[in-house]
Order: sequence, then structure tokens, then C-alpha cells
Amino acid sequence: MQPAASDRETIRNASRLVMTTLLYTHPVCQDHDMGEWHPEAPARLKAILKRLNGDEFAALDRREAPKASFREVERVHAPFYVEAIFENIPQRGHVHLDPDTAVNSASGEAALRAVGGICAAVDAVVKGEADNAFCAVRPPGHHAESSAAMGFCLFNNVAIAAEHARHAHGLERVAVVDFDVHHGNGTQNHFFRYRDLFYASSHQWPCYPGTGMEHETGVFHNICNVQLRPNSGSEEFRRAYGERILPALRKFKPDMILISAGFDAHIRDPLAQLRVQTEDFVWLTQELMEIGAGECAGRVVSTLEGGYDLTALSESVAAHVKVMMGS
Ligand SMILES: [Zn+2]
Repeated sequence: MQPAASDRETIRNASRLVMTTLLYTHPVCQDHDMGEWHPEAPARLKAILKRLNGDEFAALDRREAPKASFREVERVHAPFYVEAIFENIPQRGHVHLDPDTAVNSASGEAALRAVGGICAAVDAVVKGEADNAFCAVRPPGHHAESSAAMGFCLFNNVAIAAEHARHAHGLERVAVVDFDVHHGNGTQNHFFRYRDLFYASSHQWPCYPGTGMEHETGVFHNICNVQLRPNSGSEEFRRAYGERILPALRKFKPDMILISAGFDAHIRDPLAQLRVQTEDFVWLTQELMEIGAGECAGRVVSTLEGGYDLTALSESVAAHVKVMMGS
């Protein structure tokens, strides 16, 4: 006889002494290259993976990110757009899709593996193969619109993963928390009209891409934007979450939490002017893990977005993943 769902949950919780954290990545994500001087460079992932090879990360369960299917990608993107991305992939050199987003020969596969990694992480966490997961993938995703590449992003990895969680696993309510310094316009636009999708973002204002005002609340008050002034720091960042985003997330009662983990709000980052410290990312990750444990059996999947100072990025990712591992 099968134990009841609530009993299975109790058994699963009781067997958790150490958190098992998955790490999804793929070598092709380092081959995607947008040009010699582009800040969203392969060196970012190289620095992160070098740091995550340290002894304190020996317990990470490392898995290769699979390629997503077109069917998965097309839950968020128009089929003509997906086709156009692959038609634009050059054999050599670069093709620009917008002023700051380009593709090279590896970009198509890298984009499919970035999506596939986070969808596989959702599968593994929902099935209970691990407690949570971090996806060290690129290209990032949160600026990608249904039919437009922008802001270094090709496919909206996190929005596709949210739809995957709903369609493949029957989860009803999926939340995305986005602490990248830029607003995730693509994620917000996809989520805007869905009662059961929640998107929250803290971001510098004014700043690229120019969306994310606080009156943009979604049709069902399912969007929560907090604008942070340039030069604001730890206190304002923690207040944004403590007073606005985390209460809204708790109220939403997610079945799963996805994190758009961009580390470009860091004080050392060259692309923006917030003064957030590594300890603030640690604090926020702890808060999100706690809400995950209370609301959705700890089902948390985090994926890399921005972060352009290699030292700040690798240290911040390491600190974020350590919290996920419970160490
Ligand atoms: Zn960013």
C-alpha cells in the first residue's frame, strides 16, 4: 500500500539530514561567445565553476544540462522566433540580434542547454532526487521576450522552467524571485496575465531595460517590483525584500520557487551602481530557502542571470550555493 501524500512528505522531511544540491552546467555554455569585449563572457562561467570546484563543494551532485526540446521552449516563445534564432546561427564569427545580443556557432546549443538545465533541475527537485539545484548556465534569460532576443538573453530560461513545472508536473503555483540588478522584462511580460505565476524583482532604477515600475502589478497583483535608486546599498536591498517581496511571496503560497540569480547588484559590478554586498545575497538566499521549506517542501531551483565582476560573481555564487547546500 502506498503511504498517503502527507505521510510521504513527512518521511521525506525526516530523511533530510544534509541538503542535497544539484549543479547543472554544460561545457557548450562556455563556448557561447558574443565578441571579445562583451561583458557577458565565457570567463564568467569559467570563474564560477573554478570556485565551485573547491573542496567545500565536493558534496554537490554535478549533472550535465540536457538540451531542451523546441516544444518546451515554445511554451514561452513564438515558433517563428525559435526558428529565426537557429537560422541566424553562423558557422563562424558573430551575428547580432540586437545591439547588445549576438550569437556564434555554439549559441544555439548553449541556449537549449541553458533551458534544458533548469527544466531538468525542476524535474529532479520535484521527483525528490535532490532538495534543490543551482544552474550555472549561459546565455542568461530574464530579458528575452516571447519573440525578441535582448539584453544578452536568447530564451527566457526561468519562464520556460516555470511553465515546465506546471505542464510536466502539475504544479499549480510557481514563483520567480529575481534579484538581478536589471528588471526581468521578459519574465514579467510572460507572467503578467497568469494568476498562478508570481514574479518579484528588485532592480536599479533608472536603468536598463526601463521596465519594472512599482505600478506594474500584473492582472492579478501577481507582480511585485521594487525600484532601488543608484548608490543604494545593503539596507535598502534588505528592506525591499523584508517589507515588500518576501511577504508577497509568502502570501502567494508557491508550489515551487525559481530564482533568477543575477549578481550584478554587487558593489563591485561594473554595469550598475547598487552597493549590495555578498552577505546580502547570503541573507536573501537564507530567507528564500526558509520560505521554500515552509511553503513548498524546500523546492527551490536557482539559475544564473547577470554578474560581471568575476571576483564578486564567483564569490557571490559560492556563498549562494553554500546556503542552498545547508553549509
Ligand atoms: Zn543584470
